[in-house]
Amino acid sequence: MSKYFSRKPNELKAYVPGEQPRNVQQLIKLNTNESPFPPAPEVIDAVASAAQKANLYCDPTMLTLRQDLASIYGLTPDHFTLGNGSDELLSFAFLAFCNKDIGAAYADITYGFYSVLSRLYATDTKIVPLDEQFCIRPGDYAGLGRTIFIANPNAPTGIALTRAQIEQILQANPDNVVVIDQAYVDFGAQCCIPLVEQYDNLLVINTFSKSRSFAGGRVGFAAANPALIADLETIRNSINPYNVNSLSQAAAHAILQHNDYYMQNCNVIAQNRDYLTKQLDALGFITLPSSTNFVFTKHPAISGEQLYLGLKQRAILVRYFDAPRISDFCRITVGTREQTDALLDAIRSILGKE
Ligand code: PMP
Repeated sequence: MSKYFSRKPNELKAYVPGEQPRNVQQLIKLNTNESPFPPAPEVIDAVASAAQKANLYCDPTMLTLRQDLASIYGLTPDHFTLGNGSDELLSFAFLAFCNKDIGAAYADITYGFYSVLSRLYATDTKIVPLDEQFCIRPGDYAGLGRTIFIANPNAPTGIALTRAQIEQILQANPDNVVVIDQAYVDFGAQCCIPLVEQYDNLLVINTFSKSRSFAGGRVGFAAANPALIADLETIRNSINPYNVNSLSQAAAHAILQHNDYYMQNCNVIAQNRDYLTKQLDALGFITLPSSTNFVFTKHPAISGEQLYLGLKQRAILVRYFDAPRISDFCRITVGTREQTDALLDAIRSILGKE
């Protein structure tokens, strides 16, 4: 820390992303829930042609993308805005809907960025524990008088609430915003965007990083009632009106035109997830029921850290969280069938069950 830093020591706790090693060719990378499938070829072409006009600023209104999203979801462009990844939209949501009087609420085990942002923006926070089965109990969120952040499906557990359960939370908090962060929705959960016309307190945050093979391009989108979107736009235009660059805007447009390719990939990943879960069951693992592109799993004979280290030695990266209640678990991204078989072989060797 320099003597110029305006924050107190320990005031902030910066997010620690999963490892992003340089020698990815030599590794099986199952640690940050990326898609194992490349972008559609048309997306790569779109980036190349947008690069030719990179001397000009990008469209700060992102109108083409908002129109694309409007036609996909049967809404109007003013129901949408976009961010430099969904992390940026989460940050905008904290700035727009939390302050010294309006606190935040989220689960004890959930996406780690919520607590990072909570500290950054000095938000008073209520932590709501998951139940014994690592599920969110909708009733725990009734009338908290706070802005609620729910990852649905939740991460790192992978467990999803139904749309009806989300509605229960929305109805119990008519005077507060409920943010549904559905980064993993395309792998098997119910999308909440169809609810935005009905609930003016619902903000749905989505990403192109997982199901749309575009983590490196950094595009996320928010869907909500136009008044909530206007609030996010005020924040966005106060921070960085050019937040989604022209190459990423062009790519996202092409991605939305090739939805079938991406949804087929999601089906393959869901099949691989079910296969992986069955094989892990047979090896004695306990795996939470996942609606995502990852599994959260533990084995009675080894700790989460031992499994993580054993796999790393065998050039397979997974994620381990040294946190209360979940230190026995590893979070493993679901890859291709070949990657899954290599992972299972490595796990058998660690357990001495070759
Ligand atoms: N929400 C959840 C639940 C996530 O797991 C992630 C990925 N780390 C994000 C949001 C952020 O994704 P991105 O910024 O890449 O859109």
